[in-house]
Amino acid sequence: RSIENEVRLVHSRSENVFAAAQQLIPGGVNSPARAFGGVGGTPVVMDRGEGPYLYDIDGNRYLDYIGSWGPHILGHRHPLVTAAIHAAVDRGTSFGAPCEAENELAQMVIEAVPSIEMVRMTNSGTEATMSAIRVARGFTGRDRLIKFAGCYHGHVDSLLVSAGSGALTHGVPSSPGIPASVTEHTTVLEYNDCEGLAHAFRQQPDQFAAVILEPVVGNMGLVVPSPEFLKLLRELCSQQGTVLIFDEVMTGFRLAYGGAQGLFGIMPDMTTLGKIIGGGMPVGAYGGRTDIMRKVSPIGPVYQAGTLSGNPVAMASGIATLSVLRDTQPYAALESYTARLAQGLSELATKYGLPHTCPHVGSMITLFFNPDVVTGYEVAKRSDTKRFARFFHGMLERGIYLACSQFEAHFVSAALTEEHLKLTLSAADDVLADIA
Ligand code: PLP
Repeated sequence: RSIENEVRLVHSRSENVFAAAQQLIPGGVNSPARAFGGVGGTPVVMDRGEGPYLYDIDGNRYLDYIGSWGPHILGHRHPLVTAAIHAAVDRGTSFGAPCEAENELAQMVIEAVPSIEMVRMTNSGTEATMSAIRVARGFTGRDRLIKFAGCYHGHVDSLLVSAGSGALTHGVPSSPGIPASVTEHTTVLEYNDCEGLAHAFRQQPDQFAAVILEPVVGNMGLVVPSPEFLKLLRELCSQQGTVLIFDEVMTGFRLAYGGAQGLFGIMPDMTTLGKIIGGGMPVGAYGGRTDIMRKVSPIGPVYQAGTLSGNPVAMASGIATLSVLRDTQPYAALESYTARLAQGLSELATKYGLPHTCPHVGSMITLFFNPDVVTGYEVAKRSDTKRFARFFHGMLERGIYLACSQFEAHFVSAALTEEHLKLTLSAADDVLADIA
């Protein structure tokens, strides 16, 4: 029995629509990570989402472990979020003038994220990281940046060097179209490499405007920082007046209500957010220490703007999402589900003799087909991506919708129940047996 030859679901409408999309939109997608680049085959075209499920246009139902790549920690169409969006739309979609909802979301972010004293809303995570870098440069008067290989911070020119996520999956971690004069200010280091980090600061003392990192990486698969690494980062940045930026676009409001910084107790100088703070609408944000944020236009000289930034519909969606998270605190339950999923997957992979590791933190998890603990980009790249592709398609055909690349984290949502955990592990039992 081979899963490659075993067609369980009909995808004919998806295939037709995607074929048409490829004539209209590059690769048929508006964001490359959706294109099944790392696993082959045709992406499934979705029709609607409900709680833990996605439904495709052929009527197939999937248990969703992507949640729109992060935002839907509550599952799809949470009633309070949907109601808040409807109510906001009924009062107008965008004013281009201040509205009260902006204060409300800003206040919630400041109360939740320990290091944020002031915050500015954007429309995406990319805008947030791009702007944070600009502010850090304006604040320090320096140009140089440090980023880590395999971390993805959106498609910001200066950060699209050795990038993770779709860039890594599609084999373009450093993109053409970006002048060398832009990236020459970016130093790329290996994640978790304390010696490399100390060396860079020794080599170019007082040169770095900012260090930006995912405080738990989701974009080369899940990679966890060592406590020493985070501690050293904080120490070196403080010593040399470098702005430490935690890119919490993925981890913010996911690993804990206060994000990774709340979980680890390490305070960055600036934080970028996205995904969950928009509850499925386009929102990003950057914030941090007041003295740094006071450099932002119009009170400071560093320019940054947005026609739709802080628009009332997106703010309403974010406020409702954060309110539910604050009031229900699903984090312990999410962690427990994810830990049992990791343990189950790991036991099955061991049973079938598949070399693997299965790191998990909070509601983020990756099954690496790699015998070594993935501490950074160099180890991540040695993963068996072909085996992952077979695992992915086997799960998809059994109605389990995972992130479509070895170099992504899967997300558990609060809409998933014990029954779903059993179903997922039962599907994985079949698939892992088949691909061993
Ligand atoms: N930073 C991180 C850590 C991300 O995971 C992403 C997107 O996946 C971004 C930034 C970019 O966010 P967006 O896709 O909203 O521009």
